[in-house]
Amino acid sequence: MSVTEPPVSAVEALLTDGTTVLVRPVEAGDRAAVLELHVHGMSEESRRMRFFGASHRAPELAADRLCGPGRADVLALGAWADGELVGEADCQATAESGEVAELAMAVADAWHHRGVGTLLVEHLAHAARKRGIREFAADTLAGNRAVHKVFSDLGLPVHRHLDHGEIRVRVPLDEDDEGYLRAVDERGRTADLASLAALLRPRAVAVVGASRRTGSVGRTVLLKIRRGGFTGPVWAVNPHAGVIAGEPAYPGIAELPGVPDLAVLAVPPAAVPGAAEECGRTGTKALVVLTSGLDATQARQLMHSCRRHSMRLVGPNSVGIAQTDPAIRLDAEFGGAFPLPGTAGVAVQSGGVGIALLQRLAWLGIGVSSFVSLGDKYDVSGNDLLQWWESDGRTDLALLHLESFGSPRAFARTARRVTRTLPVLTVDAGRSDAGRRGAASHTAAAATPTVTRETLFRRAGITAAHSIAELVETAALFHTQPLPDGRGRVAVVSNAGGIGILAADACAAAGLELPPLPAETVAELRELLPAGAGTANPVDTTAAAGPAELRACLDVLARADTVDALVVCLVPTALVQDDADRPLRALLDGPGRRRLPVAAVLLDQEVPVQYRTCADGGRLPSYADPAAAARALAHARDRARWLAEPFSAPAAPPTADADRARRLVDAFLDAHPDGGWLDPETTADLLDCYRLPLTTSILVRSEDEAELAARGLCPLGHEGRIAAKAYWPGQVHKSAEGAVRLGVGSATQAQECYRDFRDRFGGRMTGVLFQPMAPPGVELLVGAVQDEVFGPLVLLGLGGTATDVLGDRTTRFAPLTERDLETMPAELRAAPLILGRPGSPGTDLTGLRRALTGVSGMACDLPQLVEVDLNPLIVRPDGVVCVDARIRVEPRPSYDPYLRRLRRPALAGEAGGREPQ
Ligand code: ADP
Ligand code: MG
Repeated sequence: MSVTEPPVSAVEALLTDGTTVLVRPVEAGDRAAVLELHVHGMSEESRRMRFFGASHRAPELAADRLCGPGRADVLALGAWADGELVGEADCQATAESGEVAELAMAVADAWHHRGVGTLLVEHLAHAARKRGIREFAADTLAGNRAVHKVFSDLGLPVHRHLDHGEIRVRVPLDEDDEGYLRAVDERGRTADLASLAALLRPRAVAVVGASRRTGSVGRTVLLKIRRGGFTGPVWAVNPHAGVIAGEPAYPGIAELPGVPDLAVLAVPPAAVPGAAEECGRTGTKALVVLTSGLDATQARQLMHSCRRHSMRLVGPNSVGIAQTDPAIRLDAEFGGAFPLPGTAGVAVQSGGVGIALLQRLAWLGIGVSSFVSLGDKYDVSGNDLLQWWESDGRTDLALLHLESFGSPRAFARTARRVTRTLPVLTVDAGRSDAGRRGAASHTAAAATPTVTRETLFRRAGITAAHSIAELVETAALFHTQPLPDGRGRVAVVSNAGGIGILAADACAAAGLELPPLPAETVAELRELLPAGAGTANPVDTTAAAGPAELRACLDVLARADTVDALVVCLVPTALVQDDADRPLRALLDGPGRRRLPVAAVLLDQEVPVQYRTCADGGRLPSYADPAAAARALAHARDRARWLAEPFSAPAAPPTADADRARRLVDAFLDAHPDGGWLDPETTADLLDCYRLPLTTSILVRSEDEAELAARGLCPLGHEGRIAAKAYWPGQVHKSAEGAVRLGVGSATQAQECYRDFRDRFGGRMTGVLFQPMAPPGVELLVGAVQDEVFGPLVLLGLGGTATDVLGDRTTRFAPLTERDLETMPAELRAAPLILGRPGSPGTDLTGLRRALTGVSGMACDLPQLVEVDLNPLIVRPDGVVCVDARIRVEPRPSYDPYLRRLRRPALAGEAGGREPQ
């Protein structure tokens, strides 16, 4: 087995009803469990279906196959629920072809219709692919509906062939199949929602650790649940107190008059594992753990109880949850006031941020549908909440504050779907990127955590604000105003010219366009505004304009073709001192007619943002600072653009020789188990696998070889010249060390150059690389990095030796889509050099796109490629060529990001804990 294929390991996953099972390989020691499954777990009829006739030897045969001496040829996975084997799926390559495997499965009767079979086959398909198996085949009885359902549920294309009452089923295991990925997603979602209902729509709640002491967390939460008017029973659990806050308390969960769906734990850390286990045993389905400061053992025990008893877990270190649905009305948090019912879903990692956010939303008047303080996120994450809000029928705006991503790929995938139906706003706090500054390649230096996160947000259509204040200001606009057209052209109107200019500047700074107004609009404005008014954009009505004029002016602007949004800046002026609010009232009179987003800017407003109620009952956000209004509008414009973006399929991968590429990488890693920079020969071979156009490069090791190489290369180079580069393993930036000589014009010069390099670099130099000089063009950087958590990220930027200084670059996750190929070059500041402009030709875009897809494909196929740096790729009108490529590899397991499994969280006291998913 090569380093890229780790043994299948144990993972926990949810069934469709929300039960957690452990999926792991069946081992020799599992014989008794396999026999038990087949003998007692399955009826005669199920066995008949499984084995074509009820051979009494069938259970023995199955146990031999899976646990006997021949088991090495069988790939078998079992699903365990609380230690019991409830299902098994296995496959074995057929005698005829190593690429086709016979599939078999058995699920205990009591566990039918819960997705055990589908889950197992999904994981088995993943493991089988890694063994080079390309197709599952199975002979089944026509009446075996359960098995046929498993196949159709998989989402893979299924071919059926009826033969004498038996059906031969064939399932090609194409992992890029969109239908399959969608089906996997869909199953994951159903399971998640089922399990979250106990948390967010509980019928009965227990508070464990509610004490008599006023001000204690448990007691506070208990009282808040009661006062909030929870619609079901709420029970206090405390071994020491008979009565808490006037109601009876119970000594333990088992003593409660019923089973709570949800238990809120507010006990000391040492008591958390015991309380959690007791909850699980009595059938509680969700926990909110408010306790913080668990040590590693306590954390593990808590997780173990949750998984074992299929309990979803919020926290630890949570400030609680709130559900405002009138049918539930659950206020189980100790942070602030019970939020107003409404349509914003709020989830935060930090309790403090949560309290602040709820407070600001309350001031503003935005109601909340549900609130979850995720705390240390051992289990329930932002991803779960997005799925919940997507389908709870109440939420139309999601606000997330996340400090870390447990499984960013799953998050990106969910978010990409959810943001199609509701805006998802987050704060991108922009952590320090100091850690990456020392990175060796340009690509790695550029792919900071901030860049990766921004790429994730953009890909998922998430609106990322830079502060809590900006988040709330943006939410205020999104919550009440329609989205603008994606062009986002703004007209600014003010009743005091200077402020209009400030607002216009703020719009420009936020990247919004202030187009000139159409001639007929200008004419209309001239007609209705007082003499001396400014009728260009920004429009200055002057203080002399009365309410009627202002109203008419706004209507005229709203009708103009070139205006997609209005920013209206008003100041109380001397002329209207008698009624300072008159201009504002004019604005609020009838924006409903205008059908485009309007943001008011009132410089004398005390709070940064507030709603003003319009004559028609609608609400308009008004900002104290024009910059805040402009930023919110820019976010709205970006969302409109994102929604308008057509779905774009991954770009067709280049004709690549992935098998050869894998062999090259494996061979290098066999020789260098810790990984490292590939030597020039392997680099060239690997690029060749993906048809990446590396220029001819010859590595010479003596003066004589230098002369020979130069004779061969000089005629090929631009103006008969060549480039010479001293080489030694692990070298970083060659030019900076004087290891690049350009324009070498003859064999004699090549020899001289060789001697000069040898004199200067001595023993560490292992050779000199000679290349023909490429004709000049635009130097670009095309690269990729593997983010341990996010997966491969592809980067395009202005290249050459000044790459890091200029910082002109754009990134996308691989695989790149057709749209990415179009938009990436266009996003660079250097775009005119690449795409062409009047008077100067563009470059070979087809060649550039091919290079981008090549790098994307290479990074997707080979997770061991941690840094790929083609710098420069020289692009010209007549072609593209790379003259410097560096690739670093590391031993890395491959993984299937879509495989359903529960996150393995970073537990207290554990280092790392990042798990690719
Ligand atoms: P490094 O990036 O390690 O400093 P490069 O091999 O990229 O070294 O060379 C530095 C610069 O020299 C390139 O950005 C390019 O401008 C120029 N250069 C290098 N090789 C060639 C070549 N074969 N043809 C034309 N220009 C070259
Ligand atoms: Mg370079």
